[in-house]
Parts: sequence; structure tokens; C-alpha cells
Amino acid sequence: MSHPVEQQNVTTLKGVGPALAGQLEKLQIHTVQDLLFHMPLRYEDRTRVVAIGSLRPSVAAVFEGVIEHAEVKYGGARGRSRSRRMLLCYLSDGTGAVVLRFFHFSKAQQAQLSPGARLRCFGEPRVGVNKLEVAHPEYRILGDDDVGIVEETLTPVYPKTEKVSQKLLRTLVRQAFQLWEQQTVNDLLPESIGGRYKLPSLAQALRAIHFPVPDCNLAQLQQGRHPAQQRLVVEELLAHQLSLAVVRKQVRLNRARALTVDADSYQQFVASLDFELTQAQQKVIAEILQDLSGDKPMLRLLQGDVGSGKTVVAAFAALAAIHNQVQIAIMAPTEILASQHMVNFVQWFPQQCVLLTGKDKGEARKQKLAQIATGEAPVIIGTHALFQEDVVFHNLAVMVVDEQHRFGVHQRLSLSEKGRFNDTLPHQLIMTATPIPRSLAMTAYADLDYSVIDELPEGRKPVTTVVLPNSRRGEVIARIASACEAGEQAYWVCTLVEESELLQCQAAEETAAALTQELNRLRIGLVHGRMKQQQKDEVVAQFKNREIDLLVATTVIEVGVNVPNASLMVIENAERLGLAQLHQLRGRVGRGNRASACVLMYQPPLSNTGKQRLSILRDTSSGFVIAQKDLELRGPGELLGARQTGLLQMRIADIVRDENWLPVVKQAAQQMLQQNDSAADALIRRWLGEAGRYAEA
Ligand code: ADP
Ligand code: MG
Repeated sequence: MSHPVEQQNVTTLKGVGPALAGQLEKLQIHTVQDLLFHMPLRYEDRTRVVAIGSLRPSVAAVFEGVIEHAEVKYGGARGRSRSRRMLLCYLSDGTGAVVLRFFHFSKAQQAQLSPGARLRCFGEPRVGVNKLEVAHPEYRILGDDDVGIVEETLTPVYPKTEKVSQKLLRTLVRQAFQLWEQQTVNDLLPESIGGRYKLPSLAQALRAIHFPVPDCNLAQLQQGRHPAQQRLVVEELLAHQLSLAVVRKQVRLNRARALTVDADSYQQFVASLDFELTQAQQKVIAEILQDLSGDKPMLRLLQGDVGSGKTVVAAFAALAAIHNQVQIAIMAPTEILASQHMVNFVQWFPQQCVLLTGKDKGEARKQKLAQIATGEAPVIIGTHALFQEDVVFHNLAVMVVDEQHRFGVHQRLSLSEKGRFNDTLPHQLIMTATPIPRSLAMTAYADLDYSVIDELPEGRKPVTTVVLPNSRRGEVIARIASACEAGEQAYWVCTLVEESELLQCQAAEETAAALTQELNRLRIGLVHGRMKQQQKDEVVAQFKNREIDLLVATTVIEVGVNVPNASLMVIENAERLGLAQLHQLRGRVGRGNRASACVLMYQPPLSNTGKQRLSILRDTSSGFVIAQKDLELRGPGELLGARQTGLLQMRIADIVRDENWLPVVKQAAQQMLQQNDSAADALIRRWLGEAGRYAEA
């Protein structure tokens, strides 16, 4: 069977040899289909000649006229002091005049562009001294009876590389389209979307996008809101949704241990807590216990802002595991966080927990592995170390992954495979404090059910946030001094965007040294990523025990560190961090019942967006609102971190602009899978290519 046209390599096209194919690869164009889906950035209208009197600034157009006057001038070009030689031609057509300005021109050109010459030009007018002017227009000298032809369709402008011209791309796209159109094209979009929303067919859509007729709605097209583009957007969103739904379906084909907790044990555990559960926690615990009592693996995402109390929710899953004599694994992204969980869980389930991290070596590690393998320890807490091959579980039935944004889908799946016993897989609970806007969650975590803790425990005082330039560092220091002398504790967070952890740590060391000088009456500690785990733990423990007043730290403290007495946080270079990350950091304070404050310091001058971003943080304490704004300002990739972006690298769809399609697409995906629609597979392949196949691995 030969490949359908769209899956053929670009080299099957006329005029595409290995060299050009190499260039096209830089544009992510490998197949004929990639050309079809290579979307124009914008369009030019070369379908009609515009009267010079009707030219408008910034609107590129075709115009035509006769050169009235031409001269070479020397002058300061905009923003330059040195004088520069340029050729000015005054072109008019009876309706008005426009100046053509050339900074580079040959003798021959100068001779051509002389009074009396008739010119057809294309270019973007700008407001000049007293007329519109066009710098370096494309032009052609028209002969006496040369009427000049115009384009029949709007001209797309594609993303390109230096070595592949627009003209070449246009020819290639046209060739690809014509070849593709000759074969029978299966329209993969279900009728429930295509018909219901009156979307054009794929062929109509691609034609409208690559060769738009002059009377199309250009404004719509430029914004990606044209029905032709929306047709592709829906397909792409649907394909992503399907690929995750397939993962889900495959996991759910397995069985899981049904775990139940009787009312007495539940009440007893609730009564043993030293606080009342919030309504939101109770609701989420019920959702989880409901899932756990089923014989299909739970796949649930639990979202809750920092400090909303997710840990205790996970404890109920542990309760269920213990009651059914099976194991639960709780995985955290850092050792600090894992040890902190250990502290909590040991308190709730004495003698039932084991902590396994990378620092366990030799005999100690062997013993722990034995506790895990024999089932002696039902509650297993750890870091990535839980992935290692020599970790063998006795009967793992529940898996909790904390702060999931650090783990990819693949890692999650492979961990759950470790708990496989014949056709039985563990239940999965993913907890995250990165408050992902609903639209993003629906897209990136479409394989998961969704629970949210949308309420903080009572009595939390909001954190007052102020934004200050570095020049006011002195005041900040004074504030730390007085807070700490009054018995409070503070964090000083050093940030550097540089990838190098070494530089970050050096900066933190320098800052700690400087602060020790400036605040010589305070006890100052330092924690950073290059320190040995044991040292880190010791410093954090000292801070917890109030043996340290001021903790200087890198962003290693971003997650999990819980010191309720700390009520002041200073973040340096706040303008360089993502909003979600700043919000996480800020979540380290405001955990006790004192009024807390966060100082965001920045290096002036701040850009407009920079100002906007910091003020969002100052004015908002809701992680969800912050995440939504962050999404709008920075796009989805930044928010989720590099690991997850693979899931969200869309060619055409923009989940902010196209959010309204998400519910439609979700429903359609479910229906397609239920009906075993063969279009599902084809759609996944069309839009995600081989990457979409990970589901089958
Ligand atoms: P996060 O959701 O950020 O993981 P934690 O589970 O660490 O939050 O909880 C933060 C703090 O709030 C902990 O000290 C925890 O004991 C406390 N906490 C959790 N739930 C409640 C509650 N319902 N009432 C009061 N304090 C609570
Ligand atoms: Mg937590």
C-alpha cells in the first residue's frame, strides 16, 4: 500500500532536493501534510491596485503611478546622526503623490527610476514629512501598453527561514495542495462538530487559508478567527484530547484493588486531626474515596492553592490503603518535601511509614527496600528514588504524585507500571499547587478527572505584597531587623534566571555574607541546591526550630517548606520569575496566624509587562486568577514548565483564544472513543504524528 499523499516526504514534490528539504526541516516541514498545515503569519492584498490618494499608513498595498521627480539626497536617516545617501522618487497618479525612498540603489536603478517612468509598486506606506512614503517598495517598471496583472487571491506570508523565500514557500504549498486535493480526502471531523457548527470541509478550509479570495473576511483571517482556521483549530484540539483520552482508556482497561474505609475508621481519623477539615477538603476526600472504592484505576488530578491542605487529603488515601492491607506510595519532587511529608505521615500513621530518597545508601537502603518488598511498610514516601529498579513493591495499590508539574505523563505511567500485578494497576492521585486555569487543565490533563480545593483553612491572614525597586533595599533590611527582633522569622530568596545552578548558589552565598554583615544581630542561615542533602535538611530544621532568624535561600524552597512562624519574605529580581513561581514562593509565608508580608524587589527600569505582572501579584492572592493572567501574558508553555509543553505545542490552536471549543471537543472525543470511531486514530496521527503514539507504547 502506498502512502497517502499527505504522509509523503516533501522530497516527492517537484523541485525539492535534499538541500531544500534540509531547510524546510528547520521550519518543522517534513511531509506534504506539514506544508498544508504551515499556517500563514499574515496576508498581503495584491489583488487590486489602490489609488495613491487612498493609501493608508501601515496598510501594505499595490499602487501605480508615474515618477514626477527623482533626486539623490543626503540626510540623517531616522535616528542616525551620520548623513546618508538616498534616492527619493515622487510618484503620482492624479489622486495623490507618494515618496519612494531607497537607501541602497545601483547606478542602473537610478537611471531606471527617472521622471516619466511608470511604476507598479507594492509596499507599506508610512507617514513621512508631508506625504506618505514607502521605503524600498517592490517595484516593476511598466511598459507602454503593459497593464500589469494582479493576484487573484490574497498573498499569504509564511514563517520562513533565510534560505527559503516566501515565493518558494508559496509555490510549494500550492503544489502540495493540488496533489493532495486530487485524492479522496476523508473528512475526519465528526458531524456533531463539523455539521453543527457549520464548519467548512478540510479542503475548503485549507483553500481559504492558503489562497483566500479577495472578498474573504481578512480581519477575521488575520486574527485566526475565520471559520476556515477554526475548523483546523477544532481538529487539532480534538486530536490532543483524543490522544490523552486513549491513554486514559488504556489505563482504565486494567483493574485496580477496590479500597473501602468504614465510617468508624473515617470518623476516628478525622477526630485525631488537630484541625477541622474545610468543606472543600471534605468534598475532595469524598471524591477520592469514591474512586478508590471502584475496581478501575483512579486517575485524578487534585488542585489546591499553596497552603490549601492537600497533604491531609492524601492521608485519607493512605488510610484506605492501610485498611485494606495494601501499599500506598507518595512521591515528591524534592528531598526536602519528601522528608516533610514523612514528618506528617509518621504522626498520622506511626510505624507504618518508610522514607526512601537518593541519600539512602548501603545497609540502611537495603533495610528500607526490604520493608517495601515484604509489605511491612504500607506507606512509602520518597522522591524519584522510588523509580529505581531495585525498588520492588509488595502490593502497591495507590500512588500519589505531589507537585506533578515536575513529572511528565511518561514518568507517571511508568511508575504506575511498577505497581502492576497481572492486569491490576494502582490508583493514581496527582496533586498540584500550580493552579492551572480550567482551560489548560482540560487540555493538558485530559486523561485525568479533576478535583479542586477552592478554599483555604480558616484563620489564614492574607499576605500583604509590596513591590519595591532595589534602591530601597535599606528599608527592606530595616524591616527584617525589626520583624526578627520581635520574634518573627524571614526568608530572603535569591533568584537568578541563569540556567547555571552554580551561579545561583554563588549569588546566594554572597547575599548571605552581605546580609550577615548588615544584620549582625540576627542568626542567618543559608540553603541552596548545591549543598548536601543532610546540610540542607539541617538548616531547614534549624529554621523550623527558630534557631535561625533569617533564611537566605535559592528557589529550592519553592515547594513544600512549611514554617508557620515565618512571616516575611523578600524576593530579589522578582521581575525575572514567572508569576506562578512567585506565587509558590510567596506561599511559604502566611502559613501561621500572624499577618505576613512579601516584598518583591526589582531592578529598574521595569518594562510595561513587567510592571503589569508584578502588580497582578500585588493585587491578587488567588493562585487561579494569577495563573489565568500568567497564561494570557506568557502562554501555556511557561506555566507548565518545559516537561509538559510537548503536550501543548499546538500548530494552530491557541488555548486562550480558542477556549470556547474545549468543552465541545471533550465531549466529541469521548463519543468517538465510545463508538470506536476509526477517525480517532487518523486524527491523532494527522496532528500529533508519531508523538501521539506514546499511548500505545
Ligand atoms: P499544601 O496544599 O500547600 O500542600 P499543606 O497540606 O502543606 O498545604 O497544608 C498547609 C498547612 O495547613 C499545614 O500546616 C497543615 O497542617 C495545615 N492545614 C491543612 N488543613 C487544614 C485545616 N482544615 N485547618 C487548618 N489547618 C490546616
Ligand atoms: Mg504540599
